[in-house]
Order: sequence, then structure tokens, then C-alpha cells
Amino acid sequence: MDDLTLPFESKYFPRKKYAEMYRRSLEKPEEFWAEQAQNLDWFKPWDKVLEWNPPWANWFAGGRLNASYNCVDRHTKTWRRSKVAIYWEGEPGDTRVLSYSTLYTEVNKVASVLKKLGVSKGDKVALYLPMIPELPIFMLACARIGAPHTVIFSGFSAQALADRINDVGAKILVTANGGYRRGKVLNLKSMSDDALDMCPTVKTSIVVSRTDNEVKMKEGRDFWLHDLMKKADAYVEPEALESNHPLYILYTSGTTGKPKGIVHGTGGYLVHNYSTYGWVFDLKEESVYWCSADVGWVTGHSSIVYAPLAHGAAIVLYEGSPDYPAIDRWWEIIEKYGVTIFYTSPTAIRMFMGQGEEWPKKHDLSSLELLGSVGEVINPEAWLWYYRNIGQERCPIVDTWWQTETGGIMISPTPGIEPMPLKPGSATLPLPGVAAEIVDEDGNPVKTGERGLLVIKQPWPGMLVGVYGDPERYEKSYWSRFPGMYFTGDYAVKDQDGYFWLLGRSDEILKIAGHRIGTAELEDAAISHPDIIESAVVGKPDRIKGESLVMFVKIREGVNESAELRKNITDHMRKTVGAFAVPGDIYFTSALPKTRSGKIMRRVLKAVASGEEVGDLSTLEDQSAVEAAIKSYQGLKKAEAEKK
Ligand code: ATP
Ligand code: MG
Repeated sequence: MDDLTLPFESKYFPRKKYAEMYRRSLEKPEEFWAEQAQNLDWFKPWDKVLEWNPPWANWFAGGRLNASYNCVDRHTKTWRRSKVAIYWEGEPGDTRVLSYSTLYTEVNKVASVLKKLGVSKGDKVALYLPMIPELPIFMLACARIGAPHTVIFSGFSAQALADRINDVGAKILVTANGGYRRGKVLNLKSMSDDALDMCPTVKTSIVVSRTDNEVKMKEGRDFWLHDLMKKADAYVEPEALESNHPLYILYTSGTTGKPKGIVHGTGGYLVHNYSTYGWVFDLKEESVYWCSADVGWVTGHSSIVYAPLAHGAAIVLYEGSPDYPAIDRWWEIIEKYGVTIFYTSPTAIRMFMGQGEEWPKKHDLSSLELLGSVGEVINPEAWLWYYRNIGQERCPIVDTWWQTETGGIMISPTPGIEPMPLKPGSATLPLPGVAAEIVDEDGNPVKTGERGLLVIKQPWPGMLVGVYGDPERYEKSYWSRFPGMYFTGDYAVKDQDGYFWLLGRSDEILKIAGHRIGTAELEDAAISHPDIIESAVVGKPDRIKGESLVMFVKIREGVNESAELRKNITDHMRKTVGAFAVPGDIYFTSALPKTRSGKIMRRVLKAVASGEEVGDLSTLEDQSAVEAAIKSYQGLKKAEAEKK
């Protein structure tokens, strides 16, 4: 980092505006959030900003509003009616551009379709769609009539889809005949058919025509959207919903265990997202914003649909895979649409890093003004690669920490409030209204530089309103570890400037020979080895050391899996972290098991390394990664046996 001067350094520091805002937001939270809430349109003002019966919150109690009205209708009453809402790019290269006024027409008609099929306020609608404009359109149409949606990522299997549909008891499933992924058609309809055989609550299915493949339509159950649209009304009155009315139910990524059905309300959720989006992304009227996440994750819900559209932003939506037809597809899209704000994940950045900087170099990325990262700890190497090769040392990077449960961004740089110095690998400071603290095992704040558990000490408007159908799990998972504080489950440390550094999940702390260290820190060290692209570190029970360190590594193409490399990596770990961090085993693998949102599933590797059963794999991206890990595990064991 020494060779790099960040353009935001000290010039603006200390950040007076942020500091004042932050202090006021915690001292007078109700006054502060009431002001923020003025940015939305309410059908009826709230009676009370917050009703707090720990751990149950009701934000803007008594207020009534509608998310679809806030994201669409209100823009059509201004010049924005002719502004682009969505630039959509299909994987084969086909495109659609929707203005706010066409979005309005579509959302109304789809809402009418749903109503005519008997969907009413409170009914659940399952959405299993590719990344096509119909996905946000259906979400907004559901919001319009007060029917909570549950979006299921289109890469999920029939079983995973059925589990989620059954958990929420959805009345309708919306799907498509197919979607494009790496040049192939993903047959969503046949997947849906298999799922629906297991889903007694779904009586109706709407099918969007996206591809040319033949599908079976079940008489009386399945309807083509284009047929239904012919009879749709042009206007559906948006329901005036109570502020706490559930906007959606969304399942967590399942990195740490069985996914939880997180419920978000309407008023608090929108206020939080509207506010934080402006603070973090510094949106301008002329910005072109692209978040590459899938709409099936919370990032897609908050940072593709609800926050940007509530602001009247122009967004890019891309259907397909980043490497189709070649690994520069994303850079091509940025150039084509003149994207100014780009938001992606560390896992994607690391993948691009492994492919070399010649790919982004082929494109004119000069439109970019701001970059973002979300989903995992971003290691400084990846941060710097992103900063140099994509942002061309011009764009600040906002590393945004949040969770499905928090609903919106919680810790992040806020160039939208005022410019600030950044540190590669740090999510920097909590946003206004976020009482983030790092505490020890007893709930007492730790000292500067000491690792601890990240908690939130005051309710915030975007917070989950519950875990679907399981109030006990809500209390137990989030509010019982430290009474009165929200438990995030993540480890973090604060530096002398008060900056937060996330260190991974608290259940991913290894205890090696008396040392406690997070997997994230060890993986960071591993990735700084020039031959390693990705790495996952897990602990394995060890009689003497308590736990021994097991490393799974993916190495650069063309590098050999030699004994010399193994030794070299061991030396590297000793040098960068310490002698205790010398791995007991190193496994070379072609792929790491990840959730479909791109997070490494260490619990799976841990099981592999200890020769145990691997557990729930429903949210796994690629089954073959587990096989690759097992193969490499068995290979090493065999080699060791032969040596003996
Ligand atoms: P589950 O809760 O089912 O185990 P999950 O926690 O992976 O799944 P998400 O809600 O999608 O599901 O992810 C939130 C988690 O992602 C955070 O708790 C944190 O561990 C990680 N995370 C997100 N953004 C960042 C970031 N900017 N820096 C570090 N970690 C991050
Ligand atoms: Mg989680």
C-alpha cells in the first residue's frame, strides 16, 4: 500500500459533516429518521417514529405507504417519466430500455394480472425468474397490491425452490420458460414443474416467455403472461399499507447453516434504503448505476430494485454470466451504457484478477466515478486490483457491510455525505443511525485494535421484522447472545481512526495452539501468495494444538501442484502470519464450494477435511466443487499413506 496515494487522503479529514450527522442520529434517532422519512411519499403520516418492544420494532407506526408508488408512480408525476429506469441487456445481446413511464404501465398491468388471478393483500407470491425486466416488475406489482414476494434465485434446484415455496405457503409461482446462462438455455419451467409437484399451496403459475424452448403447460394451472396481459387493466390503485406490512420474505445465503426466511417491512425498510443509498453511492440525477448481483439476494432487492428506483435512478440489469461470450462482458457493458457507479462482489473481483488485467484494458471505462463491493471481506489485494484496473485510480471504492437481516447498508464509506479517506480492506465507518460496536464475549466494548463481535446497539429502520413463521428463531439468533443488542455473528476490529475491519464470521475463528485467528485473516495472507487465486481455510480438531489449520487453495493456471509449491506456501504463511499459522494440510483444488451468492462454504470444507458428512447443500453453487475438494483430500491422504 505504500506505493499508493489515495486521492481522498487527509484533504477532507476530519469529516465534520458526517460526524455531526452521526452523533445526532444516535442522540435523537426519532427526530433524525423522521427527517429522512420525508424523502418518501406517505399516504398517511406516522403516529410514532418507533414503537420498540425489544426485540420487536415497529418503525413509523400508524403510517401508510406503498413501495411501488414510491419507486414508480411518483416519478411519473415529474420530468422523470421520460427518464430511463432500466437498461436491460440479455445475455445473447438483445436489449430493452424501460422509462419510468413504461415501467409504470407494466407494473400496473402485472398487478392487475395478479389481482384477476385472485391474489390479494397478504398472499405470498413466489418469483423464480431469470434476470429479466419482469423480475423487478413483478416485485413492484406484488408490492402494489400488498402481496409479499419471495424471490428464489433462478439457479436453485427444484428441491430448493419447493422448500422455500412451502415454507412461505405461496399461492402463485411466477416463472419463465427459460433464461440464458453461458450461452445455454436454463429450463426454469421444467424445474418449476418438478417443484410444484411438491407444493400443495400453489394453484396457479404464470409463465413469462423469454426463450424459444418447448415447455409443457399444465391446463388450468399454467398461464402465459402475454396472454394474461391482454386482459389486464391499465391502472391498479396502490394499496395504502401499514408501515410494518411485509414487503417480502427472503432467504439468507445459507453460508452458516439452514437458510432463514427473513421478513422485511415496508416503511422502515424503504426509509433506510432510500437514505443509505444516497449517502453511500452519491447518486446524481445523471448517474448510470449497475449492481451486478442477482436480484435473488438481498443486494438485488435493496440495491437493484427498491433503493435505486425509489431515487428515480437509471439502472442497468444484465441477464447472464460475466464470462460470456468472453471474460470482458462486464467491462463491455460498462462501456456500452456509460455506467458511472458499479457495485459488485469480492468473489467476482478475485475471479477477474485471476484472468489478468488485459481484459478490462480492452474497454473504455472512463465513465466510472464510483465503485462498490459487498458480500464478503474484500482483501486488500483485490481492493487494489479493483481500484487500479477498474477504477483507474480515480474512483473511490465503497466497501459496504450489511446482511439480509439488516435490510440495507450499515457500515460503509459515505462519499454522498462528504468525501473521505479510504483504507483498502476496511468498510470504514458506520452509517448515520447505526450504533455499531465491537464487544467481547461478555458484551463489553473491546479496546482499539482488539478483535471482538460486531453488534448493533440500537434498532435501525431497515432491520428485519422477523424470521418467517419462527419468532423464536428471531429472538434466539439475533437478540439472545447479548440482551438488548443485535448480534451480527461477524467478527471485527476497530483501528485508531475508528474504522471497522470485518474479520469474517465468529463461528469461523480458529484456535490454534492458544492463538485465536479468523479464517478471513488467514485467507488474506494466503491470497497474497503470487500463485494463489483463491483460498479457504478451515480448522480440524488436533489433539495437541486444539485445532490445526487446513488450507484449500486454487492456484493460478499454469502453476504446478508441486511439493516445492507446498513448501513455498507454508513458508509464506509462516512469514506473513506467524509460525502457528503453518498449515497442517494444503489441498490443491480446481474449485471452492460456494453459495450461489459467491461466498465460500467453509462448513463444507471443514467436514471434508475431517472426513465427515457435508450437510445441507441446497444453496451450493456447484456440486462438483465439493467433489473436487473430496478428490484432493483423498489424493493427499493416499500420497501420505504411500509415503509411510
Ligand atoms: P447465512 O446467514 O444463511 O449463513 P449469509 O450470512 O452468507 O448466510 P447474507 O445475509 O447474504 O447471508 O450475508 C451477510 C454476511 O456477509 C455478513 O454477515 C458478512 O459475514 C458478509 N458480508 C457482507 N458484506 C460484507 C463486507 N462488505 N465485508 C465483510 N463481510 C461482509
Ligand atoms: Mg448471515
